[in-house]
Amino acid sequence: MKKFLFMIVLGFFGCSNNSTVYLCNGPQSKVYHRTNHCQGLKRCTTDIEAVDISTVAEKHRRACRYCY
Ligand SMILES: [Zn+2]
Repeated sequence: MKKFLFMIVLGFFGCSNNSTVYLCNGPQSKVYHRTNHCQGLKRCTTDIEAVDISTVAEKHRRACRYCY
């Protein structure tokens, strides 16, 4: 599963658009990221998920202060 998600992230990185954001799935994570290589994501110990920005409001995430 982790490898599968990583492939998705790589795919989005190759053809990124403005509506894709990146989430760390860890329980402590409360932000979303503009890129999947943000320094804020380096502390992520779980899977990184690429999602559409329209879904982050439902998850009550705020924009990362490093990449936004
Ligand atoms: Zn970030």
